[in-house]
Amino acid sequence: MKAYDMVIIGGGPAGLAAAVSAKKAGVESILILERDMELGGILNQCIHNGFGLHTFQEELTGPEYADRFIAQVRELGIAYKLHTMVMDISPQKVVTAMNGSDGMIRIQAKAIVLAMGCRERARGALNIPGYRPAGIFSAGTAQRLVNMEGYLPGREVVILGSGDIGLIMARRMTLEGAKVKVVAELMPYSGGLKRNIVQCLDDYGIPLKLSHTVVDIKGKERLEGVTLAQVDENGKPIPGTEETYTCDTLLLSVGLIPENELSKEMGVELDSVTNGPVVNESLETNIPGVFACGNVLHVHDLVDYVSEEAQRAGANAARYVKGEAEKKGNTITVAAEDGVRYTVPRNINTNGMDEQLTVRFRVGAVYQNAYISVYFDQERVMHRRKQIMAPGEMEQVVLLKQKIAAYPNLSRITVKIEKE
Ligand SMILES: Cc1cc2nc3c(=O)[nH]c(=O)nc-3n(C[C@H](O)[C@H](O)[C@H](O)COP(=O)(O)OP(=O)(O)OC[C@H]3O[C@@H](n4cnc5c(N)ncnc54)[C@H](O)[C@@H]3O)c2cc1C
Repeated sequence: MKAYDMVIIGGGPAGLAAAVSAKKAGVESILILERDMELGGILNQCIHNGFGLHTFQEELTGPEYADRFIAQVRELGIAYKLHTMVMDISPQKVVTAMNGSDGMIRIQAKAIVLAMGCRERARGALNIPGYRPAGIFSAGTAQRLVNMEGYLPGREVVILGSGDIGLIMARRMTLEGAKVKVVAELMPYSGGLKRNIVQCLDDYGIPLKLSHTVVDIKGKERLEGVTLAQVDENGKPIPGTEETYTCDTLLLSVGLIPENELSKEMGVELDSVTNGPVVNESLETNIPGVFACGNVLHVHDLVDYVSEEAQRAGANAARYVKGEAEKKGNTITVAAEDGVRYTVPRNINTNGMDEQLTVRFRVGAVYQNAYISVYFDQERVMHRRKQIMAPGEMEQVVLLKQKIAAYPNLSRITVKIEKE
């Protein structure tokens, strides 16, 4: 069995940034395991620009952004294995992986960083009635076909779901010569970033139908059309509102699910809202020495936040490897209430905290001119007005170690949305 100080599962932006920061923090023996044919993760298929505005103050394409981190991994001499699928991680941190040249390999790690990203929710999870003709793709699959493999999945397209991938693909398919007839969204608001609605739909005259879903699929061999209907506040189709669109392609952009089978199997506790690991201020899971970052932890809107979070995970994992992790003392619970769906992290130990800690979360509905409030036990310590908040955009509050230290008996920090 081989041994490394740190094994990183996944060579996407999260895995790359974690590796770079761990190496810079002095960990010599690091191995990245990536199942795909190259490093970079999902960014390799995101050839549009809009990446890196926060990290590099530049507008980069996905591959350009990934390349900045891949170059650092190479310069720092960090080892990686491609085409290598991790199949199991034991609670004792033995990683079992497989590839075409080594066969089955087992690696003992001192610390592990989970950075497996997320996958798209498929048609099966949606219960759309009708036959199963060719022509129904997840938006990410279509993106890979168009941007990496050079195939156009179809010419007349309907998109279900207005998450960022669906919006980006509406524009991409249009630029490739297809006709995107409509984007339908079940919720009364879009699940994507505002900038993507403007740049990918409005700029190309593509209609967005909110509170609509697919109620019928036409065609047996190849998709011939879909019927949309408006839904009521319970998501039930309203009879008489049906409209049929002829099309040969339906793209589904109906949510992302963190890739947590490995985490679950090894006994990592998962959060029921994010489906990602429950982590503390150091992004460490309930298994000491196992850290998580990126979309496997919670689905991010911007890759810049993934990189920033992953750098923290890598640095904290390095402290663990070097035996410098702070001894755990009193734990403060971080609770999500009143419109806040979840928080990352879910608990904080001030001993392990840096001078400041970013707590990220998403809201459950659209709020206008509402306040993000933070309570230390019963006392409100932060109250910030925001013009608009939507489920598609991640929110954050920054907690200061010094401020928390002024409350020695603090047991609970609550983040909530208040109207006034
Ligand atoms: C279509 C799309 C458009 C986007 N547009 C933007 C944008 O415009 N701007 C922006 O800032 N962000 C955008 N994002 C978000 C950004 O790309 C992601 O937040 C980011 O890629 C997440 O990084 P990650 O490393 O967590 O996951 P990924 O990039 O998914 O990387 C995870 C890696 O882990 C590997 N892996 C998984 N399981 C295993 C295993 N068992 N063994 C070995 N390897 C494994 C995968 O192959 C993959 O390479 C977009 C995302 C998508 C999907």
